[in-house]
Amino acid sequence: MMKNVILVRCGEIILKGLNRPVFESKLISNMKKSLYGLGKIDVIKSQSRIYIEPQDGNYDFETAMNRLSKVFGIVSVSPVWKIDTDFETIKEHALKMVGDLVDRMGYKTFKVETKRGNKRFPMESPEISRELGAHILNNFHSLSVDVNNPDFILYVEVRESSYIYSEIIPANGGMPLGTNGKAMLLLSGGIDSPVAGWMIAKRGVELEAVHFYSYPYTSERAKEKVIELTRILSAYCSEIKLHVVPFTEFQLEINEKCPQDEMTIIMRRAMMMIAEKIAEKSGALALITGESVGQVASQTLHSLAATNAVVHMPVFRPLIGMDKNEVIDIARKIDTFETSILPYEDCCTVFVAKHPKTKPQIKRIEQSESKLDWDTLMNNAIENTEVLTITPNKS
Ligand code: ATP
Ligand code: MG
Repeated sequence: MMKNVILVRCGEIILKGLNRPVFESKLISNMKKSLYGLGKIDVIKSQSRIYIEPQDGNYDFETAMNRLSKVFGIVSVSPVWKIDTDFETIKEHALKMVGDLVDRMGYKTFKVETKRGNKRFPMESPEISRELGAHILNNFHSLSVDVNNPDFILYVEVRESSYIYSEIIPANGGMPLGTNGKAMLLLSGGIDSPVAGWMIAKRGVELEAVHFYSYPYTSERAKEKVIELTRILSAYCSEIKLHVVPFTEFQLEINEKCPQDEMTIIMRRAMMMIAEKIAEKSGALALITGESVGQVASQTLHSLAATNAVVHMPVFRPLIGMDKNEVIDIARKIDTFETSILPYEDCCTVFVAKHPKTKPQIKRIEQSESKLDWDTLMNNAIENTEVLTITPNKS
């Protein structure tokens, strides 16, 4: 009997020793969540693998694999055929699978790779590969073996049941989301911050996000863009709470009362303090930003130190040593790039000095800040914050 199943390979969690069951059950629950709505499945654990067996003949494998490839903790997934561990059965199904690949893809060369987990099976791996390869060659005269650079590899795994497949779809690895606390991402509409959030989430950290907007100086569409970015990220995180903070009043005050060339840095300090307050309330343990050393005036080492000085929580800046091109590569891979480059203004670009200070002195900045009614401005912003719960588009 043949069954279509999905083989899921887990990464680092297999190194987790005694804690492994905790990571494993979190991963499985995240997988189930991501597959929600596609139909009934059985989930079977086996060493560093997890098999997903749909109970319904019409299961949508493509969507399922696409969703699973976004679940952190998974290294790769494969659509596989599960068959009885019996060499005649393996041969018969190998021919079917190869026939389909040759028809669909026009492949000309192949090799067979075998793993034998079931030591009671009378043939050893090289022998299985050899005999199966010969059987395929006898039946497909258009095919030849190429061990170095084949068009496809037929993988055979002989275990309690046996599995054959040819496709391996890479996923992102990382740790299961929710195994490492929660952090608050400062999410702008730019290219960097979604990537920064994704990188920390990849290590198992749950995300919430905070966005500062300056209506009516920034448009409703700028806010929609940030919601859309959050939605794209939520495909990796299942759900993200987005705190949308009205920042106009604060910015107008800074604009009016503080020196022009200190505006950016004071604004950024305000953002960090508000984000930290919101993070504390939500039980987040760290902040995340998309800053990278030297990228803009507000990201010189002096500026970073001045922004950092107003908060107590750890601030994660996973892009700190990356070049823009490297960040863009990830943004493309995780699907945020096209949305990030939509040309809507950000609150940071609305009130911007022509020549912002690149070496702000904290003492001077603090003096300027003392002209502001800091507590009232912060409380107003926080009180009027809108909280949205963003979930992925199910496709
Ligand atoms: P990004 O591409 O993420 O917008 P950037 O290169 O434009 O970054 P800045 O505008 O200096 O750099 O912002 C630095 C970081 O500050 C951002 O990565 C983000 O974490 C945070 N940030 C900036 N603007 C906002 C905003 N409007 N709301 C929330 N966070 C913001
Ligand atoms: Mg920006």
